[in-house]
Amino acid sequence: MAAITKQTEPFDAVVVGSGPNGGLAAKQLSEAGLRTLVIEAGSAVRSDKCYGSLATNFVRQLHAHVTGRQHIQERHAIFWQTNPRLFVDDTRHVYSTPRDKPFRWIRGRQVGDRSHMWEGGMLRLSDHEFNVARRDGVGEDWPISYADLARYYDMLETFFRAHGERDGLGQLLDRAFCAASSMSFSERVRKQVAT
Ligand SMILES: Cc1cc2nc3c(=O)[nH]c(=O)nc-3n(C[C@H](O)[C@H](O)[C@H](O)COP(=O)(O)OP(=O)(O)OC[C@H]3O[C@@H](n4cnc5c(N)ncnc54)[C@H](O)[C@@H]3O)c2cc1C
Repeated sequence: MAAITKQTEPFDAVVVGSGPNGGLAAKQLSEAGLRTLVIEAGSAVRSDKCYGSLATNFVRQLHAHVTGRQHIQERHAIFWQTNPRLFVDDTRHVYSTPRDKPFRWIRGRQVGDRSHMWEGGMLRLSDHEFNVARRDGVGEDWPISYADLARYYDMLETFFRAHGERDGLGQLLDRAFCAASSMSFSERVRKQVAT
């Protein structure tokens, strides 16, 4: 993302944050012909660099733990599996919640943001989730159904060139894959054990 130093033309739209939501909003707005500015608080990360190495991550994780600088972030399991620099410094990004409603907010500050923290498993929600209360008697049913979202999933997955296998499962729905990706050795073993 290029930094803007001087801008004389006004923008039609300003999007704050380049995560999945901001990124998509910017795509839609600019494709509709609006001059769109995306403001991002984090720096750009290179995907080949952002995960660090086992050794450097361990030192960073330990340092964060001892100093308490990421005392909220470190409570998420993924923190201990990847580069802690992908997560915010909790002492700099302070937030509050009502006393009776604590909330552990796991956040990142970089272009593309939280999607860097996990490994790109973007699963479709199905009517199993939307009708959870009716089915399992917990939580609340959603006011929408899978049929309302299906065409948007198709559109986005085609745009992102999603990869995966077609398993024909009711709860984990097949997607608009551009090609089947092959499983790694450990994924094949896990699938064998689980089925
Ligand atoms: C550990 C973890 C694992 C996850 N695993 C999965 C998964 O496997 N599959 C899945 O589908 N989802 C997963 N999610 C959820 C997914 O990451 C989020 O739903 C998604 O990233 C939300 O997108 P967003 O655009 O709303 O916000 P974010 O992704 O948080 O993006 C917000 C952006 O705004 C920027 N920003 C923040 N404040 C400012 C400011 N003041 N000014 C300018 N820019 C600012 C940030 O730097 C960031 O780039 C996971 C989330 C976490 C934390």
